[in-house]
Amino acid sequence: MKRRITFFLLGLIGIFLLVTAIISLTVTSRQPSPIASKVQINEKEAVNRFSEAITYKTVSYHDYKQFDYEEFDRFILFLETSYPLVHQKLTLEKINEYGLIYKWTGKHSNKNPIGITGHYDVVPVLEGTESKWEEAPFSGAVVDEKIWGRGTLDDKIGVIGILEAAEYLLEQEFQPSRDVYFMFGFDEEVGGEKGALAIANTLKDRGIEFDFVIDEGGAIVENMVPGVTEPVGVVGISEKGYATVELKIEGSGGHSSQPKERTNIGRIATAISKLEETQFPADLQGPGEDLFEFVAPEMSFFMKYVFANKFLYEPLIEKVLLQQPATSALIRTTIAPTIFQAGEQENALPEIASAKINLRLMPGDTLEEVETFIVDTIDDEEITVSVDGSQATKVSSVDGWEFAAVQQAARNVYNDAIIAPYLMFAGSDAKHYDLVSRNTYRFLPVQISSEDLNRMHGTNEHISVENFVNAVKFYAELMKVVGE
Ligand SMILES: [Zn+2]
Repeated sequence: MKRRITFFLLGLIGIFLLVTAIISLTVTSRQPSPIASKVQINEKEAVNRFSEAITYKTVSYHDYKQFDYEEFDRFILFLETSYPLVHQKLTLEKINEYGLIYKWTGKHSNKNPIGITGHYDVVPVLEGTESKWEEAPFSGAVVDEKIWGRGTLDDKIGVIGILEAAEYLLEQEFQPSRDVYFMFGFDEEVGGEKGALAIANTLKDRGIEFDFVIDEGGAIVENMVPGVTEPVGVVGISEKGYATVELKIEGSGGHSSQPKERTNIGRIATAISKLEETQFPADLQGPGEDLFEFVAPEMSFFMKYVFANKFLYEPLIEKVLLQQPATSALIRTTIAPTIFQAGEQENALPEIASAKINLRLMPGDTLEEVETFIVDTIDDEEITVSVDGSQATKVSSVDGWEFAAVQQAARNVYNDAIIAPYLMFAGSDAKHYDLVSRNTYRFLPVQISSEDLNRMHGTNEHISVENFVNAVKFYAELMKVVGE
């Protein structure tokens, strides 16, 4: 009898393994076959123009009065002289003087247009760090096949890359299949209100709706996904929400020689500790799930097996993802206590204690839901909870021709890169274009290391000539691919 049961169980396990293995065989690659790009630009001249673009100190500040608008004027003049065909064949409209909209009329203007965006403002160079730069931050120096300076990554490479691509295509007498708008912000680093947001509102008032808008965002990075040998390029399809929670308790303080059992500091500390212990629930859904759906087919059979049978292994996958801050942020709303305030004197109990917690919200989580969760978790009626911020942006489609076009253009230039969707943790102008676009994608078409990413707002920002040329090729490919 015992033997029979053993056989029966072994049989069941066998069937289970067979069925799940068959399911994993149905996993197919979601990468389009690359058609190697034939775009050939004059690299030397393009690099010279890019290098000059870096020399304009188009720095943005939260106080708009601090802008050196002369530098912005000179930059726009530089664009006009450097890209003659663009300025001859496209219309240029300025919003709030410095937000730029170029419209390129396509063959089929009845179809929804596409938008390609970037921003030409840059963050300041931190005082005292100038001497740490290997090449001066506004030199645009070209040394050892690298271009140096503020904006080489964030994001003059976008603006110049797009215009170089357009100038090249115009030389080839190319006309896009549908209308293409280039939209360049001048205050992205300080929120984009007068640039991208004003541009989006202007176009919305005219009834324009894009099929997709592409902005800066994820890049192609090697060794990013364990188990994938190819470099992976990630395209942001949504941006996490950003909110701040304030916890506050007020009440009698008293003397520290006769403290009450529960003090204000203790109550707030307990509240935070409960939140950290509980955490928001994790769920592999939305952009995080999409990322793995695009990457898993390129992984080992074991990984394919696990992700193909996600309905069984989801709890296990989530457990693994929760072990690293970077992957755990992909699948849940995160909590980060950043400010704690209480007390002034060592022998007096403070009457007020408060704390601020920075939250990054998953798509779909509303501020109300988040507040309810926090109130329920800390379970202390005397602590007031207030939440202020914004929820995540909408999630763009990965199943339509729009995402496929971005993938195809990227693979035509970076033939072996896996191009996958993901969730952005940082903000950019892209969110403003949600107003006027069915989809917004966030992708910077360069292949860099995670070290390079850290240089974006830091010291020694630079990019290789090869990457810059590839970025130009990507934008040219994108405009071509959209017509096919
Ligand atoms: Zn940027």
